[in-house]
Amino acid sequence: MISEQLVEITDPHFIIELMYAGTSHNMTGCPVYTEMGLGNHAYVHKDLWEKLQKLIPWLEEHHMKLKIFDAYRPPSAHVRLKEVIPQPGFFAIMPETSPHCRGTAVDVALTDENGREFSYPTPVDAYDPFYAAEVQAGRCKGFFEYLKKARHDYQNADETESIRNRDTLRELMESIGLEALAHEWWHYELPRGRTGKYPMLRY
Ligand SMILES: [Zn+2]
Repeated sequence: MISEQLVEITDPHFIIELMYAGTSHNMTGCPVYTEMGLGNHAYVHKDLWEKLQKLIPWLEEHHMKLKIFDAYRPPSAHVRLKEVIPQPGFFAIMPETSPHCRGTAVDVALTDENGREFSYPTPVDAYDPFYAAEVQAGRCKGFFEYLKKARHDYQNADETESIRNRDTLRELMESIGLEALAHEWWHYELPRGRTGKYPMLRY
C-alpha cells in the first residue's frame, strides 16, 4: 500500500524513467523496483508535488520536459540496493536517512519536448557502463574520481554547454523552492526533507 502522503506523477510534462526500475542506466545492474512490484511509477510527497507542478508553465514556455530518474524509493528497495552495492558512498547506510525514502527528493534532468536529454557534465547518477561494471565488481576508486564531475562546483572550459545546462537546471529547481546537493547535480529535495517533519514512508 502506498502512503496517502505520496502522489504519483502522471502529468505529461514529466517523463518517468526510473533508473532502478530497469537494468539500463542503473549502477547496480539490478531492476529492483520492478522486482518488488513498484515498476516504473514515480511517487513523491504531496509537498514536493506542490512545488514540482510550479514548473509546468516554464516547461510549456520553453518546450521542455523534466525527466524523473528516481523519486520515492521504498525502504525495502533501498535495503536491496544497498545489498547489491554495499560499498560506502553509494546509498545512505539506513533507509531512514535517505530523503528518497521519505518521498522528499527527486533525481532529474531537462529534456527537449521529444524527451531528448540535454548534455550535462555526467549522465544522471553518473551512470557509465564502464564504471557500472567496475562498481559491480567492487572496484570503485576510478568511479569516485569520475564523480568529481557530478559536483556543482565542477568547471571545465571545454564543457561550457553541459555546465550551462547544469546551472540552468539548478536555477529552475531553486526557483520553485527546492534545494541542491553539492555533489549530485541531478538531485533536488524539499527544505527540511530529511528532518522529522517528513518521516520515512513504507510501501
Ligand atoms: Zn537523489
